[in-house]
Amino acid sequence: MMDTQLTLDSMIKRTEQYFPKKEVISRTHSGVQKFTYSEIVGRMKRLGSALESLGVNKGDRVGTFAWNHHRHLEAYFAIPSVGAVLHTINIRLSKEHLIYIINHAEDKVLFIDEDLLPLIESIKDDLETVQAFVVMTDNETLPQSSLSPLYSYEELLKNAESSYEFTTEIDENDPAGLCYTSGTTGKPKGVLYTHRGIYLHSMALAFKDTVGLSESDVILPVVPMFHANAWGMPFVSTWLGTTQVFPGPGMTPKLIAEMIDEYKVTFSAGVPTIWLGLLQELEKGKYDTSNVRALLCGGSAAPKGMIQAFESKFGISFLHGYGMTETSPLVTVTRIKSTMENLSDDDRLEVLSKQGLVVPGIEIKAINENGEIKPDGVDMGELLIRGPWIADSYYKDDRNTEAFQDGWLHTGDVVTLDEEGIVKIVDRTKDLIKSGGEWISSVDLENALMAHESVFEACVVAVPDVKWQERPIACIVLKEGPEHQISKEDVLEFLKPQFAKWWLPDEVLFIDEIPKTSVGKFLKSKLREDVEKELAL
Ligand code: ADP
Repeated sequence: MMDTQLTLDSMIKRTEQYFPKKEVISRTHSGVQKFTYSEIVGRMKRLGSALESLGVNKGDRVGTFAWNHHRHLEAYFAIPSVGAVLHTINIRLSKEHLIYIINHAEDKVLFIDEDLLPLIESIKDDLETVQAFVVMTDNETLPQSSLSPLYSYEELLKNAESSYEFTTEIDENDPAGLCYTSGTTGKPKGVLYTHRGIYLHSMALAFKDTVGLSESDVILPVVPMFHANAWGMPFVSTWLGTTQVFPGPGMTPKLIAEMIDEYKVTFSAGVPTIWLGLLQELEKGKYDTSNVRALLCGGSAAPKGMIQAFESKFGISFLHGYGMTETSPLVTVTRIKSTMENLSDDDRLEVLSKQGLVVPGIEIKAINENGEIKPDGVDMGELLIRGPWIADSYYKDDRNTEAFQDGWLHTGDVVTLDEEGIVKIVDRTKDLIKSGGEWISSVDLENALMAHESVFEACVVAVPDVKWQERPIACIVLKEGPEHQISKEDVLEFLKPQFAKWWLPDEVLFIDEIPKTSVGKFLKSKLREDVEKELAL
């Protein structure tokens, strides 16, 4: 067979040729703008020329510090297509982590949204390698800023060579992207993505048996473009000529609901906290969501109650996916196999709340001290993954070498596998509650709690216990309204029929908000500290 290279520049060639009139809809600070793919690819090429004029060479890292919008999409393709590495930076990191990762990545140029300039200004003296800053703004004049040299994105594009074509020789194994894990413990770790990895991952997103992205979709990536490349969606969508709707800065559930309605969105993706917020907004009953074929939910476990509410109240299906920054990220997606179509509603929901089947192209297994676990839905072990879009090391980092052993990525996630091969994430190793020599899954308890009609969000953490080693404590945010004022006893009564007695939380704390990580997941380490303080442990 021919050995043609699987590189990102070939994706935009296809879009330009076959889908020039399809659209990219982008919300920025000054409102919503529409572009054709012909215009977008033209702008990508101009950006390629501008990158060269800024002195960006093959292999250089170029950082983006931005929301989800068309300019970010242009950077997604232009940077790798000149042979450089797209380093998407999480805009919610602490200053300390920002300085660490920008210096560690040795970013040469930074592309920054106008409203995020102050953050970079505040750390500019600590940045060791950045030679130029580019502000991504609609404004014609450059904003006042202490960053120097500072360029305007649109000005650079205006002055760029209009006949520029991407001609850099790129090998499919060359790096194309760089993303750091959100680093809730210790310094963030970098994952380098190759052209080949992104290309094959994009193909996997288009399988009907996974996420099934298609040209006929209208996608709205809610998951940030700095969170594992918005789960790869901008790459595959551009390649297929799919209409993309970018929600821009400061997304709210109301904004997401309005955009879904107005642009007839068929597919969107985000973490559970986003969908919980959207559910509340949709319950106001003002929005048309009839075009939505599915929502992809990942990043943490999708509560069963939420899946059920979306399905039964709005007829919206959920695809529950599992992955990590280290895995590009798609590893598993829930599917009801054709041989499982006769399941009862309850059993179907049970399957949908699991993380699903491994996608074609990736291999998994799970091990514990006895070797590979039994596929009986009970035996638990750590999930191991390998495949062409799975990282084999951290970027310039020899911490955590135990994550990469014997050709497998050791995920630190504890799972069960059932007889259908369906994966269920029981917990992260560090969040499992070890009580009296047995394990309690905080995720299972949270799932059950969030199915209560008065519970908005619930998070379960372990606290130290002299007799049992650890015990679970439930922290609950109630829905608004007097009808939702439930007590600790109500909560325990609700859980009792569903769990063994020793699984029941020792305490139920009602709180105003659950602390979240920079990508919207429950920040259990912080909550655990708060709980220990509250209970004076
Ligand atoms: P970070 O590790 O910085 O939070 P990632 O987004 O890479 O950032 O997180 C990956 C982790 O998120 C996985 O190891 C797993 O624990 C968790 N996770 C991802 N998807 C799911 C899911 N569908 N259900 C439960 N946990 C999930």
